[in-house]
Amino acid sequence: MTTTPTVPTERRRRVILTPPSVAARAASERLTRALLNLAVGGQRPHCGDAETHHYWLSEKAHERALAVRWCHGCPVITECGAAATAQAERWGVWGAKDFSRRPRKSNPQVSARAQTSIHRSQSG
Ligand code: SF4
Repeated sequence: MTTTPTVPTERRRRVILTPPSVAARAASERLTRALLNLAVGGQRPHCGDAETHHYWLSEKAHERALAVRWCHGCPVITECGAAATAQAERWGVWGAKDFSRRPRKSNPQVSARAQTSIHRSQSG
């Protein structure tokens, strides 16, 4: 039997959702307005296609790379990129840019080398 790991209560308490800044809200509103204008004209961005929209938030880098290419030519690319930047997006493709990044894991080999270097500098 497998169990799903749970997030310790103390850690959950420390997760605080910070409200968006005034600049982020303004950028988001500009994007919303641009998307509404697009919709009034009977258009929608490529990321709104039912068959491919998952590429923009995919876990697979090659799918996000395709999404970046498909963003080019989007009529709201400027507003989209500005909103993502203002909101410090941490995942997905916005305005033809892949914002996805994972927290870095510590590299045990690098740590070992750093320790050796420290030891040598202290002993020599
Ligand atoms: S620029 Fe933004 S709105 Fe346009 S297709 Fe890309 S992600 Fe979608």
